[in-house]
Amino acid sequence: MTIPSVDRTIQLISTGAASGSTCSPDLVTAPWEFDAAAPGYGPGSSMGDVIPTGSPRQGELPETYRRATPEELAARIRSAKATLGDRVVILGHFYQRDEVLQHADFVGDSFQLAQATKSRPEAEAIVFCGVHFMAETADLLSGPEQAVILPNLAAGCSMADMADLDSVTECWEQLEDLYGTQADASGRVPVIPVTYMNSSAALKAFCGEHGGIVCTSSNAQTVLGWAFERGQRVLFFPDQHLGRNTAKAMGVPLEQMPMWNPRKPLGGSTATELDDARVILWHGFCSVHRRFTVDQITQARQTHPGVNVIVHPECPMAVVDAADSAGSTDFIGKAIAAAPAGSTFAIGTEINLVQRLAAQHPEHTIFCLDPVICPCSTMYRIHAGYLAWVLEGLVGVDGRAPEVLNRIQVPASDAVHAEVALERMLAARPPAAAPVLVGQA
Ligand code: SF4
Repeated sequence: MTIPSVDRTIQLISTGAASGSTCSPDLVTAPWEFDAAAPGYGPGSSMGDVIPTGSPRQGELPETYRRATPEELAARIRSAKATLGDRVVILGHFYQRDEVLQHADFVGDSFQLAQATKSRPEAEAIVFCGVHFMAETADLLSGPEQAVILPNLAAGCSMADMADLDSVTECWEQLEDLYGTQADASGRVPVIPVTYMNSSAALKAFCGEHGGIVCTSSNAQTVLGWAFERGQRVLFFPDQHLGRNTAKAMGVPLEQMPMWNPRKPLGGSTATELDDARVILWHGFCSVHRRFTVDQITQARQTHPGVNVIVHPECPMAVVDAADSAGSTDFIGKAIAAAPAGSTFAIGTEINLVQRLAAQHPEHTIFCLDPVICPCSTMYRIHAGYLAWVLEGLVGVDGRAPEVLNRIQVPASDAVHAEVALERMLAARPPAAAPVLVGQA
């Protein structure tokens, strides 16, 4: 049986040609309809989240792209790509729609794509089909002459937006008042800031400047081990769930992981709780992974006895605890590829990746834990129409002079410190005999 793309499935459901449900009827609408409307994350998992004032907006997409059929857009993209040759490289995140990903030179998670950036130093333009923080990271890791392009400027990330430089700086000042700035007898400073890759370049720079580091969902435990060697405690942002799941697997008691809500004095914790803290968790989350529940796992086990449940560590702790294993998108893909034919998997991560894995592995039964189709709102903002527009901009078609559209550039003042934090991550090695996060052995 051929498994249709998520976009196609949504269209089929909307016309009654397929059963199933989506979290918003607006998912059938092209993203430029939302780019032109009031600011917001648009339909999908983040539609209930509050978008920060001043978030980047996308200007109007020219009519020729809005009116083109999917087949026309695919042909225009292929033609522009062929004309540009090695001058362009297209990177595509696992959570992108298939209609975009079919044109990517590299497909992967945010860290794999950041590394791919370095593998094509001859490319003048890097078109990043992902979200804003990923394009920023690509800009940090690419050469100064290379232009990183985000096809739709409205493709942010609601989780990354939950921690901004002002509120993290304010938190840091309160923690300095509480703990002081002096190292203890073993040389460990009071707090090490750790930011998840899913954060702005400004926050990566904050970490670089304050003795901190970046982590990904693949190396979070190694990075926390690095931080504990240098600090008495960690301030982890923006994803509380990755921080909690990782620290718990390393043996940190839950009572030593207070939450920091930037809208409350002392983050909503008492001075005593903060004094005893090992990991201070920022009040952020991913609206895609927050949709997964223990009830869904119970249901999957009832309907598919023997099912293997794998979830992403951005899921809430109770969901990770109830699953058979938890790990990054890369881990999920490898676990499925290594399983004997005939296995059944229930997966807790973004629907585009789950549906693609199901199509790539017809020897298994693979389904999403969440029965409601609800893609990442911001990944969804990248559409083949925008990809065709930026590629044809590089070529220069219909009398237009060649131009770089939607370039993402990290200010030099941030870049220098953000690169320090990224380099610390790349150099971090797991401590000997480190415990492993469930499923990452
Ligand atoms: S899946 Fe979650 S963390 Fe990833 S881009 Fe979407 S909102 Fe951000």
